[in-house]
Amino acid sequence: MIKGGDGLALASPVSKVREQAPSNMSTFAQLRSLLGGQRGSVLTLAIGTILMGLSESALLILLAETAATLATRAHHARIHIWVIHVRPSVSTLLLVALAVVFARLLLQVPLALLPPRIASRMQARLRTELFHSFSRASWDVQARDREGQLQETMTGQVAQATSAMYSAMGLITSSLLLAVMLLSAFALNVLAAVFVVVLTVSLFGLLRPLRRTGVQRARALSQAQLQYARGIAESIRVAEETQVFGASAAQRKRMDGFISTARGHLFATQVLLRLASNLYAAVISLLFVGGLFILYELGRGHAASLGAIVLILVRASSSGQNVQAAYQTLLQSMPFVERTQLAEGRYRESVPARGSRSLPEVATLGFDDVGFAYTLGRPVLSDISFEVNGGEVIGVIGPSGAGKSTLVQLLLRLRAPSEGRYLVNGLPAEEFSEDAWHTRVAYVPQEPRLLHASVAENIRFFREIDDEAVQRAGRLARIHEDIVSWPDGYDTIVGPRADAVSGGQQQRICLARALVAQPEVLVLDEPTSALDPTSESLIQESLMGLKQQLTLFIVAHRMSTLDICDRVMIIIDGKLTAFDTIELLQRENSYYRS
Ligand code: ADP
Repeated sequence: MIKGGDGLALASPVSKVREQAPSNMSTFAQLRSLLGGQRGSVLTLAIGTILMGLSESALLILLAETAATLATRAHHARIHIWVIHVRPSVSTLLLVALAVVFARLLLQVPLALLPPRIASRMQARLRTELFHSFSRASWDVQARDREGQLQETMTGQVAQATSAMYSAMGLITSSLLLAVMLLSAFALNVLAAVFVVVLTVSLFGLLRPLRRTGVQRARALSQAQLQYARGIAESIRVAEETQVFGASAAQRKRMDGFISTARGHLFATQVLLRLASNLYAAVISLLFVGGLFILYELGRGHAASLGAIVLILVRASSSGQNVQAAYQTLLQSMPFVERTQLAEGRYRESVPARGSRSLPEVATLGFDDVGFAYTLGRPVLSDISFEVNGGEVIGVIGPSGAGKSTLVQLLLRLRAPSEGRYLVNGLPAEEFSEDAWHTRVAYVPQEPRLLHASVAENIRFFREIDDEAVQRAGRLARIHEDIVSWPDGYDTIVGPRADAVSGGQQQRICLARALVAQPEVLVLDEPTSALDPTSESLIQESLMGLKQQLTLFIVAHRMSTLDICDRVMIIIDGKLTAFDTIELLQRENSYYRS
């Protein structure tokens, strides 16, 4: 057994599956919330099903009467249902039966259309809500999400949730059909109807333990599928290291573990589903025996209505079987619905409060006694105070793990201080609107992250920006000459796995992306490894060109970068130990000198 995070466990027995507590909401409350906005369609489906059930009972009665009349060589049937007594001719019976058949044909249209419409709308709604909540969620929650998790939730788990919707509709239609059959049986013969009700209800009760185990295994399957998806995503990310360290066999073993766990749960859920259904089918055959018994007991009665009772009992048995199968499938699909709803809720609850103030310029920017902790009681930054004026170039240095990246995330408002205040133009930073903030503050990460798209689209990055501005940013980032030398120029497709561009060029495309909206503040986590000497000097040149045009924060990993800085912050153990000009630091700071 490989130990580590939960994703590293090779096997996961059912008892250990507890990542997310099952929802407190009842199955029906969850269904109601899923069906929100589609009540009209559900109601139409229910009415259509009732009409279908009534027409079916009518057809069964008509057929039984016709057969009995023909068998006795009579010309008129004798129909006796509840208080209705009629004596239609055989041809009238057949004409009415034909009309019922046509009506049933017409009813097939809405009944075939509505379930896919309801399910596809529900699936689209689940996906939209999930993704919208994710994209609005705080960076803290987004960053905590394991790789592959959102993808699996939005694909595999939503697909299973959609099948829950089909089961729900199956449950609605088969329950209504059963109810109509029972009503018809009541109208024909009370004894037969009571018999069906007692048998169906007791069977439902008897199968309860099977359903409960089915739900447990389905919950475990949902978790196992998530674990498997995360495993795939991680395997893709570390494919290179896996080859280099000869870990392919261990990697395969780990994935085999995930696959086998999911297989076990899938097998169990499907067996339980079929077992319950088959048991029900076997025992419900009692209805046939019961039907014959009633026929025998009431043998002196009218043969045709007895025949109709038997036919209705047979149909009731198959409707009962459908109710049981749809209910169990529904229960076994609910854990997937729960997981998508829990994920959506987790993202939604993390959406940070947004301010509404505009930000025409960034004149000053500073921290006032700022502290930050990822985990309560374990601060990684504390008592940080500084003020920076617009146009200054600030270097940030310090040992690894000192808190520089955390400081960058606070500066970008990706995270909010746990203590103290972040002030922009003397006002709390969170008061400024998101839109205003994003046009004024830009970022270049240490690792360039490109979309699989054209260079121009990578620079635009989903924003409405014209070609001229894109090329101006290309020039500012010293990548324009490279781009125009490629056959497709700004239309060249680049991306994480496309080898059209070098690491240094990727980094300069990211710099162009940051500059294209003409920000006032640029935060740059200086790349250390990806840069070739040409790219390095081009980026230096670009930053020199930007000096005094915008406020720059550069997390510097190379001493040469500090040459362009007006002042340098030294962060050690989460504390701002010095913040001065290079000359002063050179004279007075031992860390800087070393
Ligand atoms: P630096 O950029 O100077 O190397 P970081 O800001 O990345 O430092 O990390 C500062 C401290 O915060 C380290 O102890 C690190 O382990 C911790 N840390 C960083 N990111 C997280 C996170 N997402 N969750 C918990 N702790 C974190």
